[in-house]
Amino acid sequence: MTSYKELGLVNTREMFKKAVAGGYAIPAFNFNTMEQMQAIVQAAVETSSPVIMQVSKGARAYANGTILRYMAQGAVEYAKELGCPNPQIALHLDHGDSFEICKECIDNGFSSVMFDGSHLPYEENIAITKQVVEYAHKYDVTVEAELGVLAGVEDEVSAAESHYTKPEEVIDFSTRSGCDSLAISIGTSHGAYKFTPEQCTRDPKTGKLVPPPLAFNILHQIEEKLPGFPIVLHGSSSVPQDEVDTINAFGGKLPDAVGIPEEQLREASKSAVCKINIDSDSRLAMTAAIRKHLAEHPDHFDPRQYLKPARENMKKMYIHKIVDVLGSNGKL
Ligand SMILES: [Zn+2]
Repeated sequence: MTSYKELGLVNTREMFKKAVAGGYAIPAFNFNTMEQMQAIVQAAVETSSPVIMQVSKGARAYANGTILRYMAQGAVEYAKELGCPNPQIALHLDHGDSFEICKECIDNGFSSVMFDGSHLPYEENIAITKQVVEYAHKYDVTVEAELGVLAGVEDEVSAAESHYTKPEEVIDFSTRSGCDSLAISIGTSHGAYKFTPEQCTRDPKTGKLVPPPLAFNILHQIEEKLPGFPIVLHGSSSVPQDEVDTINAFGGKLPDAVGIPEEQLREASKSAVCKINIDSDSRLAMTAAIRKHLAEHPDHFDPRQYLKPARENMKKMYIHKIVDVLGSNGKL
């Protein structure tokens, strides 16, 4: 058993409490590689922001859970070295799909876990979430639950259809499960193809897809039912069109990739939404920089030559999200 406290990590309780009261949201960035980890830490330190580094099932399959745990520990030490004496970094399991995987992560230094029972029958979702909460709270680990189903494809998480969270269920669910935060479905979606062209309108000038707006009415109803309770948005990449254009200009093929407009995420951040998950935007920033670099330097073959601009581009994106969208800068 390794407690996250030994690693210098923090759980999400305090950061969420402050974020809800302060009208901002904590960034939750997924990571799989050293370059992503470095870019996240540099961005968080330079903006004095708390940050959640999260690990999906796909990340564990790709990078190995033990390595990612040590990378999170390294992230804390790296932040200190960069001049931040008390960094607030949470290591979070994204979309845990069983009690066992949540327990394994808690036992191995994670400070926060998600149990995603959104695809299960309601009572079963409550029962397993409660089991995770009872175990997690013994070690002061915080638990995120999910109610409502998001569409889209994420690392081994996919659903063809979304179902908005039913506001009438949230009090019963959060009370009986004991979860510390709740991921809801109000129209965000996983992946870089969040909406089909049929769900969108098209901007006549640019030809780009304009996605349907988030269901703020549902968010507000949930806030009324659970005043001050931390709400989480998954699938909240914006799929920046300049990165998509760069990818497509240098040999990529991502037609009609579209995300959640940043104005809507900015509005959500001011509400009870206190954690916003961003994964695809980092992938796009990395890929755009690598494609551009290799196209412009066909003689380069040292990975450091193209991973360095990739890391810089991700860092720029993370800082933009923290400062211009979530408002978590200066909140350490
Ligand atoms: Zn998710």
